[in-house]
Amino acid sequence: MQKRYLSGFDLKLTDCETAVVIGNKIYVIGGTDDPTSSGMRILDKSTSKWVIPTVLGTKPKTLKGHSSLLLNKDRILITKHDSKSNESVWFLEVDTQFIRDQKKKFETEVVAWSKGVIGDTERPVVISGPSGVGKGTLINMLMKDFPTLFGFSVSHTTRAPREKEQNGVHYHFTGRNVMEEEIKSGKFLEFAAVHGNLYGTSIEAVDVVADAGKRCILDIDVQGARSVRASSLEAIFIFVSPPSFEELEKRLRARGTETEEQIQKRLRNAKAELEQGNTSGLFDHILVNDDLEACYERLKNVLGLSEKMNAAPETTTKVFDLPVDLSLSQINEKIVINRGTAEQKIVLDLSSMKGGAPGRTRGLDIYALDKLT
Ligand code: ADP
Ligand code: 5GP
Repeated sequence: MQKRYLSGFDLKLTDCETAVVIGNKIYVIGGTDDPTSSGMRILDKSTSKWVIPTVLGTKPKTLKGHSSLLLNKDRILITKHDSKSNESVWFLEVDTQFIRDQKKKFETEVVAWSKGVIGDTERPVVISGPSGVGKGTLINMLMKDFPTLFGFSVSHTTRAPREKEQNGVHYHFTGRNVMEEEIKSGKFLEFAAVHGNLYGTSIEAVDVVADAGKRCILDIDVQGARSVRASSLEAIFIFVSPPSFEELEKRLRARGTETEEQIQKRLRNAKAELEQGNTSGLFDHILVNDDLEACYERLKNVLGLSEKMNAAPETTTKVFDLPVDLSLSQINEKIVINRGTAEQKIVLDLSSMKGGAPGRTRGLDIYALDKLT
């Protein structure tokens, strides 16, 4: 137990804890290392009372040995000691827009964890279009030809699996009650009722693809595309249109995966989707899927891939070993991580930082000090 006087308060901190003052609150981070504990407490200086906040996001497995540094009064940078740099950078958001929104919802103090990720991946690709137009077929071609470049965002749905569909691969198949609860708890980037079922993209589904250094492909309906447009995810929006309504009906029937009643419902919805997709200005590109090979070529052109068959991802991840003892200092948007001796200093560059809770914080750079200007 260490004693620390901060803003006139005698804080008794454990070895796992650090404290940061923001306005009239003292945030004590770490707490016990028990995964069931919130790991957080806040001292309200005006009342001298401790508050246990609602903690959102995925927190680090352990906080034993960490440094904390306040950034912009809205988030705290946490750097874990004695770890690899790609696992050691975390943010605790305390007053970002996301936190302000959640505070209204929970009516409590709220903080949220977001893992810091070095580097960035290319913009995700949203593909929409009426059922049976060939979205899945085009996406499969792309994934087969460019397995190292693209990853599929596996949506959640309440519809029943088709014969060859696997849970966790094509969809996360789930119950309506479970999904409604998860929507309430903020798990989804977007969701929509489509053809009588719920479909949604979880934040995690997009993050796991980006974590693997791949570009994420989302196969979602027009309502979902509109929600993503309004979200913080900067994506490219592509609408796939059939050559004619008759051809769409033919393909949907030939696929043989829906009952007659479901086909009728999907065709009715297709009319509205085609109208919105072709006229709303929501989409960056409209591709008519007449001849499959020709449409696939146009899709590759739009994604800048025609020359890139089987190219490896261009990201290189730099990993540093962080010592048991380190200290942090800030120069504008650059954080100097002092690793003991002058030669060992490294810089965490936050100038291209984006994203954040409830997802990851991306676009960070890390390099040895000699590059600091
Ligand atoms: P979606 O994912 O948009 O619902 P699918 O990819 O499942 O559509 O395609 C529906 C059916 O149409 C499938 O049987 C597929 O093989 C077929 N198909 C896809 N594109 C074409 C095309 N350009 N010409 C003819 N048939 C196609
Ligand atoms: P299907 O049942 O044929 O797999 O999909 C039906 C429709 O749901 C398609 O238009 C597909 O794009 C859409 N869809 C699939 N996943 C999602 C999702 O996560 N969100 C939204 N909004 N739509 C989805």
